[in-house]
Amino acid sequence: MSTSSEYDYLIKIVLIGDSGVGKTNLLTRFTRNEFNIESKSTIGVEFATKSMKMKDKHLKIQIWDTAGQERYRAITSAYYRGATGALLVYDITKYDTFKNLEAWFSELQENTEDDPLIMLVGNKFDLQNKRTVEIDEGKTFSKENNLLFIETSALDSTNVEMAFHNVIEKIFNKMN
Ligand code: GDP
Repeated sequence: MSTSSEYDYLIKIVLIGDSGVGKTNLLTRFTRNEFNIESKSTIGVEFATKSMKMKDKHLKIQIWDTAGQERYRAITSAYYRGATGALLVYDITKYDTFKNLEAWFSELQENTEDDPLIMLVGNKFDLQNKRTVEIDEGKTFSKENNLLFIETSALDSTNVEMAFHNVIEKIFNKMN
């Protein structure tokens, strides 16, 4: 008998980046109608889960959202613990959110042990006429730090599925 709680691998992906870059909307865009969103207000974080099958293996994907803690730079180590992947998100129209990536990246590295798979995400691609961060700047940062890179729009769905899927697939390949 198979139940939805059975899985071969648990994949934990954390969303990090400045407040307002679109983390929650990326999560809901990816998860809408397909995921079971659980609110964990007591520990100050929220995460959504999704079950997926990849090459006959059952994956349980847990995607964690910061629930606003990032505003106070008060993300707890529990948030990062056990993360196998991360989406490091900035807003292509707000240069400050790009400048702050360095700090987010350091915090991520300090709080994780097993080299999580990291995707750099330049969000709000639909606003590219208001872009202040050039694509090449994102590419350079990702190359320098050995990250994957993609630009997305949670508003019109551009590359959102692709961003999560690439991370999940790469994590899966590392596990096998
Ligand atoms: P968070 O604080 O990082 O979780 O960001 P939110 O998901 O709450 O988004 C912050 C604001 O940006 C909200 O007003 C969203 O509607 C808006 N937003 C998020 N993603 C996009 C996007 O891809 N394009 C546009 N135009 N707005 C977005």
